[in-house]
Amino acid sequence: MSLLLEAERYAANQSSHIALNAFISPLPRQSGQWHKQAKDADLRAKQGNPKSKLDGRLIAFKDNICTRDFPTTCASRTLETFTSPFDATVVQQVEDAGAIVAGKTNLDEFGMGSHSVNSHFGHVRNRRHLSAGGSSGGSAVAVATEQCYASLGTDTGGSIRLPAAYTGTVGFKPSYGLLSRWGVVAYANSLDTVGILAKRTSVARDVFDVLNKHDPRDPTSLSPLSRSRVLSKLSAPHLSSRLKSLPLRIGVPLEYNISELSPSVRQAWYRSLERLSQQGHTVEPVSLPMTNHALSAYYILAPAEASSNLAKYDGVRYGTQFTNKLYAKTRGAGFGPEVKRRIMLGAFSLSAQAMDNYFVQAQRIRRLVQRDFDAAFRAAHPLAAEPPYSQTGVDVLICPTAPSPPPSINLTINGAGPLDAYINDVFTVPASLAGLPAVSVPVYGDDAAGNQGSAGVAGIQVIGQYGDDELVLKVSELLEGCGL
Ligand code: GLN
Repeated sequence: MSLLLEAERYAANQSSHIALNAFISPLPRQSGQWHKQAKDADLRAKQGNPKSKLDGRLIAFKDNICTRDFPTTCASRTLETFTSPFDATVVQQVEDAGAIVAGKTNLDEFGMGSHSVNSHFGHVRNRRHLSAGGSSGGSAVAVATEQCYASLGTDTGGSIRLPAAYTGTVGFKPSYGLLSRWGVVAYANSLDTVGILAKRTSVARDVFDVLNKHDPRDPTSLSPLSRSRVLSKLSAPHLSSRLKSLPLRIGVPLEYNISELSPSVRQAWYRSLERLSQQGHTVEPVSLPMTNHALSAYYILAPAEASSNLAKYDGVRYGTQFTNKLYAKTRGAGFGPEVKRRIMLGAFSLSAQAMDNYFVQAQRIRRLVQRDFDAAFRAAHPLAAEPPYSQTGVDVLICPTAPSPPPSINLTINGAGPLDAYINDVFTVPASLAGLPAVSVPVYGDDAAGNQGSAGVAGIQVIGQYGDDELVLKVSELLEGCGL
């Protein structure tokens, strides 16, 4: 199929799936611009001279990533009419590679949520009235329903991986600092990571390869020196063999086997371990004892950073200028309830009386979570001190992405309170706190009667040591189609 035909098919799907509300700004109806881009890419392909593997492909962006040609709303009333004067670095990189911006996708306001229901533009809909996951739910549904070739989202505590798990797509959160965040609206700077959603791991890798570059405009972007350090350590002879020759050491974190785990998720987890051991890899139990505290630490740290980041949307300089100019009235008027809750939580935990009991403790737990991971992996953290590797330890960890299949969307809107939404992140936040690469890949479990693949799809998470992004993607590929 020509790239132009493919682009037209995605555009047609955007129109026919409009009720899913995956896009806040879809492709423009006047097809002039993107038609021309796709035709040019077709020509380059014919001449055997494509710009990259993404040339002529349609890529959608979560609406907290700045674009010049589309508004950037963060799904917030505060930014309802905002259009950025510049493109984020990741947008530029994708366009330089020949890809076409397929529109801006719906999300939880400022990335805060787990079901994509906290949006000023209405909630995202997944198949069969189920939650799409959040906060990059629009990006995930757009990929799952073929409204674009791939999409970009952000992952602060699981926002790429949870929507991937709920929509049966592949969701990849690279190591913290590898992809540029310049032009990405901050939620919690020490955790925010740009990530990729696609139908297949190979596509996610193609996008990753285009984006994985140092950006001098992003102060958190890993420097060229550190990049080479990470690569040289992880590609030390005894470790680089992992990418070619087998077997791998696969770790199963026992603390993730909680009693609340849905049987279908447990089945899928079991299936994925079975497949890997059939392929000759060794599967061994590991312990990550601090995992139990990771969720509470995350829900202190992320709101604390958010409360400081969002202070600028007070309606005075940025954001909606309401007619009543009284600061006390205007500063909260543009935010939805979840964002207000986060700002209040964050302001509280940073206040002088609460700081030691909350923020400082949470930072300590974060450090211990990182230490757990370092003790589990064979490769040491490449930015930390020697020794570079240990004889014991595993190459990757395999665990569920979420404790259950997607809940009904109505339950997430009306029934369950905020705590229920927070609990969905229990398996994704540890890797976020430690800045590790993690991917969610769809795996099919058997039902109670043992019918293969009938229990439906669950997201299985592959977590690797810092900088081991290639390995994580490789294991994701080994698991693709597992259980079917
Ligand atoms: N659900 C988590 C939160 O609300 C994660 C969000 C994210 O990764 N952006 O904070």
